[in-house]
Amino acid sequence: EGVLFSQVRQPGRLMVLLNPQSGKGQALSLYTGHVQRMLAEAGVPHTLVITERQNHARELVREADLSQWDALVIMSGDGLLFEVVNGLMEREDWETAIQTPLGILPGGSGNALAASIHHYSGSQPVLSEELLLSCGFLLCKGLVSRMDLVSVTTASSQRLFSFLSLAWGFVADVDIESEKYRCVGAARFTMGTLVRLASMRVYQGRLAYLPAEEPAPPEENTFHNSCNSNNALKARTGSAPRPAAATPRGPPDSLLVPLEQPVPGDWTVVEEQEFMLVLAMYQSHLGEGMMAAPGSCLQDGLIHLLYVRAGISRPALLRLFLAMEKGAHVASGCPHLVYARARALRLEPLSPKGVITVDGESVEYGPVQAQVHSGLARLICG
Ligand code: ADP
Ligand code: MG
Repeated sequence: EGVLFSQVRQPGRLMVLLNPQSGKGQALSLYTGHVQRMLAEAGVPHTLVITERQNHARELVREADLSQWDALVIMSGDGLLFEVVNGLMEREDWETAIQTPLGILPGGSGNALAASIHHYSGSQPVLSEELLLSCGFLLCKGLVSRMDLVSVTTASSQRLFSFLSLAWGFVADVDIESEKYRCVGAARFTMGTLVRLASMRVYQGRLAYLPAEEPAPPEENTFHNSCNSNNALKARTGSAPRPAAATPRGPPDSLLVPLEQPVPGDWTVVEEQEFMLVLAMYQSHLGEGMMAAPGSCLQDGLIHLLYVRAGISRPALLRLFLAMEKGAHVASGCPHLVYARARALRLEPLSPKGVITVDGESVEYGPVQAQVHSGLARLICG
């Protein structure tokens, strides 16, 4: 969409937010060992901010004077970017705040967005420090593109913005259970998968989605329409006092009806109610070496929905995960795997206890629905 650093008078003022606890706890040494020098050589001035606790970054970007920064760069896993995206969307000026270019440098154990932008750049797959060098290079190039965000609403009407994934069942359980293996880095997902395979179970629930029509609606229009209707909404509510608690704002979810009502007639209601996993992806990678949605790109306005029906054998499920490294699972002909392209979805778990993750972070368990907002955010992706 544009080159970041050449368009500004005082070039390249980056805020680098770093989570020292992410991954193996090496983000800071990776920064001093690689990133600091790369940015200096590229002549990109930046300020390092080390987070002190969970939600520190979220609060910081919620209050920050964004006119001082050309980009917010996250050096951590996907969890810290999730904080930053939601912090921006909680601002009164979310509409301009979310236009702040974002950057990602893999410093965590779940580096899915970093793996995705490396993949989009057309390079051969790499892992760990090589992935960091690649993303550092893409950051220095400073090319900015639009990125889809998905608005997720939970049963308590909490609204979240997601850039990566929504998961329930096997994948969500592995994501959360494997946090205790963070010390092994990205291999935590492989370990978690093997452990979960041994105790794999079935997840009961209902799934429905709005299939994507071809061709996709013009993305710019989708974005501006949503913003305009929100402006109108703001104008009508006038200067009503804002609630003290931060609630994400953002464009209206025009495709969704309240969770209490049945889904609209043009939605597909999935017949099965027993699943091994449900996974909605909007970027290509679920982690380093896990290309869960090979057909996805940064701004396609699509939710790539994958689900695996109950009844799959352990070896077949393991084969699916192994095939995922190259993105070969979708075309593998596995009869239990279904892949669909959607614009919105609703998931209603019937099992009383469980885990739902959004961008790898655990969220309120219960019915959720989601809608894609094409190109709502901007990302530096070389
Ligand atoms: P990883 O990929 O290793 O899980 P994340 O970026 O996802 O790394 O971060 C993991 C969690 O740590 C996230 O929930 C994030 O909000 C939280 N977090 C951020 N900064 C800190 C900090 N300074 N101390 C502890 N936790 C933090
Ligand atoms: Mg994480």
